[in-house]
Amino acid sequence: MHRPRVLVVAGFDPSGGAGVTADLAVLAKAGVRGVAVATALTLQGASGVERVDATEASLVERTIRRLADDGPIDAVKIGMLARGEIVEAVDAALRVIAHGAVVLDPVLASGTGFPLLDDRGCAVLRERLLRQVDVVTPNAQEAARLGAPEPASTAQAVAAARALLGLGTRAVLLKGGHLPDAPDDVWWDHEGALVMPGRRIGEGRIHGAGCALSSWLAGGLALGLSPRAAARRAKAEVAAAIERAVPEANGVRYLSFR
Ligand code: PLP
Repeated sequence: MHRPRVLVVAGFDPSGGAGVTADLAVLAKAGVRGVAVATALTLQGASGVERVDATEASLVERTIRRLADDGPIDAVKIGMLARGEIVEAVDAALRVIAHGAVVLDPVLASGTGFPLLDDRGCAVLRERLLRQVDVVTPNAQEAARLGAPEPASTAQAVAAARALLGLGTRAVLLKGGHLPDAPDDVWWDHEGALVMPGRRIGEGRIHGAGCALSSWLAGGLALGLSPRAAARRAKAEVAAAIERAVPEANGVRYLSFR
């Protein structure tokens, strides 16, 4: 029997709370096999990100092509890309390999404000890479950097997600965790809008929730769920992981993928 394989393209977080190691943990739990290319090493801990050392872009591109040579890629999850050259390399590699649905978490900065993608990377992501993407999963600030009016309510998030659909992706999942009131997520695709109501769970900074959400989504798509079903499952799994999260140093909550 074919075991779906999901390609992760993301940064390395030594704490394991975000980035490739968290993504692979989620994919294992989702029941798919994860393969990964690290786009950068980060120096970070509970106080936040301090330094980013990007991987050479040609190594990223060659790794993606080599992984594709070894078997089908049923879905792709893209997270932190660090630099414009890497966005171009990923865009080029995805054009030549056979692959399933692409989920892009447009990681632009850490929760503590450290840039995780340079300005050129943001432009290439918006103008080129997004056209190869099936689902993009921005938060409110990322939606604004991609060109939508920054939403401050669920109604505004519905309008912002619709504006982002025009950039070329098949669907938008706008995460509501950074909205000032209800943390509702908004899904937009060719069938229209779907508001997925959320509620705040516990206190304190959560690390890696966006990474986990996009990985659950990619895993669900690789397993053959419809995009909307995969999005609902992803949201429910991340909410459950936040319920189980235990605060560690600085009160930062790391999700539990057990
Ligand atoms: N480090 C890496 C490698 C990431 O991919 C991310 C977010 O996507 C972060 C750090 C920041 O995570 P957070 O903002 O959830 O703390």
